[in-house]
This record gives sequence, structure tokens and C-alpha cells, in this order.
Amino acid sequence: MLQSSFLMLWYSKLRGVRHMNYIFPKLKKNSSNTVTEQEKLHDLINELYEHEQLDREDYLYVLNNMTEEDSSYLFSRAFEKKEFYYGNKVYLRGLIEISNYCKMGCKYCGINYKVDTVERYRLTKDEIIHCCEEGYHLGYRTFVLQGGEDSFYTDDYLVEMLHSLKLKHKDIRITLSLGERSKESYQKLYDAGADRYLLRHETASRRLYNHLHPSFMSFDNRRVCLNNLKEIGYQVGGGMMIGSPTQTNEDLVEDLLYLKELNPHMVGVGPYLCHSDTELRGNDSGTLLESLVMVALVRLILPKALLPSTTALGTLSAIGREKALKAGANVMMPNISPSENRIKYEIYQNKICTTDTSGQCRNCIEGRIIAFDHEIDLGVGDYVGFERKNRHD
Ligand code: SAH
Repeated sequence: MLQSSFLMLWYSKLRGVRHMNYIFPKLKKNSSNTVTEQEKLHDLINELYEHEQLDREDYLYVLNNMTEEDSSYLFSRAFEKKEFYYGNKVYLRGLIEISNYCKMGCKYCGINYKVDTVERYRLTKDEIIHCCEEGYHLGYRTFVLQGGEDSFYTDDYLVEMLHSLKLKHKDIRITLSLGERSKESYQKLYDAGADRYLLRHETASRRLYNHLHPSFMSFDNRRVCLNNLKEIGYQVGGGMMIGSPTQTNEDLVEDLLYLKELNPHMVGVGPYLCHSDTELRGNDSGTLLESLVMVALVRLILPKALLPSTTALGTLSAIGREKALKAGANVMMPNISPSENRIKYEIYQNKICTTDTSGQCRNCIEGRIIAFDHEIDLGVGDYVGFERKNRHD
């Protein structure tokens, strides 16, 4: 007894982790389930496959009992579900990181306003349009404009840019990911031609949200923004980080329940990656396996969702993004930002693809997708059955 608690202490010291409430404890300890536990787990995965939801206790059972061995069953069911709606197609989106100025204080993020080790930059609308042109020639038909919350980008400035982009190309989609704005602002941007908006809810646990953000940021406002975006008619993306400091399995269950309720068109799921210049320095990062399990569960809960295989997964492991395709993801977002700025958009460290040109990223990603038995799809890649609301609907 004494020996086993000593071993536990040694193990947790070794990993530098929280004592109680390990997320996915069995994955971390690499133990296996009894036959009965395994049967129950597989039954729940099958139930999720059939009914697309579970209740709170069952989600918790799935997370508490998920082992590496059993995760392959989950991944295969999630893959089947993805194949049903999307086949083996992977939609490509050209990602432009437009600015790393940010007035927000997300404690995990390497470009929050407090971080003074990062060199700040922002792209002008002409530079953004130029990146989109280059991306268009590489075959992309969706452009994702992501950035910190930078007041430089007023509604008028963005509206003008959106008009120019949409005037030039009728066959493109524009996704914005510029954080929390007013409903009026979201409406103006939608009317000017923005199609989709990514705003991860980050965590559906109020406790965890408050732990990861300063008091001037609001858990409720993030949700209000997501509801507003949906009401306006955007294809909306929520999502969360996996393995953030103090996150428990109960918190992850909240994410699954919230996602079902929100019913977004896109869900970004990626590991938390610790950045040493933030106030959360010194914490463990999330793991690949935990993140893949969450991708697969989201695929089963929201079968038609557009699920990106995130760059953060590729940062954790050389084939992290490919593994996500096998666990239900169906979107990839190659970087088309100007090469000289990529390293500066350091939301986490050791980000991949920061030295490649846009053309190199395009080739690299295509090769990876093909090597893992998928095909690229260069269409606009809307959510299955989605129809855009017109201004006066
Ligand atoms: N300002 C925009 C875009 C933020 S960056 C917004 O508020 O939505 C996009 C996403 O990167 C964030 O939503 C967050 O989930 C993720 N991110 C930020 N820092 C991270 C980190 N250290 N590790 C992993 N993901 C991180």
C-alpha cells in the first residue's frame, strides 16, 4: 500500500502533473480494461454511433475508461461516420494569420497583450488580398483570416476588403476568426460577404474558463457571440483545447454536451500547447491521444461537422494531423501567410510550417493526405446541405 502510493507520487512527480482528476487516467497509465469494462465502453461507442448523443454519466464513463487499445475502436467508428457524409475527401482552406496584435489576455496564448517577447505585425487589406490571390492560384477556394483581437480592423476596413475579394472571385468562401465582436459588426461582415466564423468556445466549463482567462474576459459573452453568429446565418465553428491546465474529464464532458446543444458547423479541437512566455508556463501540454479521442467523439456527436485536423496536432507529432484524418477529421488548413510573419504568429511554440512557402505547404499537405488514403477536395467545402441566408431573409 505504502509502496503503491509512493509509486503514484513518483509517477506524478515524473510527469509534473496534477494529482487527482487525471484526464483519461488509463491512457496516461497505459493500463487496460477488464472484459466487462471493455464491453460497456464499446456498447457506449456504438450507442453514440447510432444516436449521436449520450448522457452525462455515459460520456464520463467513456472518458474515464478510454485506453489506447480501445481508442482504435472509437477511431474506426468515427472514421466510418465521416466516410458516410464526406467519403475520403479532405477540404483544404488557405489560412492567413492577419495580425498578432491582441487586446485580449487568454493566459495560454503566446500573442496575448501581456506577452512582450513577440514582435507584433499586422497585414494591410492589400497584403491580405495578395495572399488570397496567391492561394487562389494554388487552388484554394476558402480563405481563413485569423488574428488576435486587433482594433485596427474596423468594420469599414474589413467590409471594404471583403467586397474586393468577393467582387473578384464569385467561387470562394471567406472564413473569419477575429474573436469577439458586436452582433452589428458580425452582421456587417456577413452582409459584405463573410461566410463562416471560427470562434472556439475554448472550454464549456465556467470554472476552467475563469482559470484560463483574466477577469475582464467573459465566459457568457463568448457564448452570446456564438449564438449571434448562428442567428445571422454564418457557418459557425466552436471548439476547445484539450489538456489545458486543471482540465478534468468532467470539464470535457461539458464540452461535448455544449457542442451538441450549439450544433455548430465546424469544430476546432486541438491540444493545449504550453508556451513558456505566458503566465501558464511550466504546465504540461495536452497529448495527441487525448486530442484524437475528442476529435472522434465530436465526429460521432456531430456527424456532419467540418472538423479540421489542426496544426497543433502536427506540432505534437509528425503524423498527428494524418492520425486525426483516421479519427474523423476532414479539413486541413495549410498556411498561406507571408513567410516572414509566420514565426511571429506564435500562439504556441515550435509551430510547424513556419519556414515553408505557401506552395511548399500546398505540396506537403497534399502528399500527406494521399499517403494516408485520402483525397484533396478543392471545392468550397460547405457544411453538408448548407444554404446561405440572404441579407433580408
Ligand atoms: N482571436 C481569435 C483567434 C485566436 S487563435 C479568437 O479569439 O478566436 C485560435 C485558437 O488558437 C484559439 O481559439 C485557441 O483555442 C488556440 N490557442 C491559443 N493558444 C494556444 C496554445 N497555447 N495551445 C493550443 N492552442 C492555442
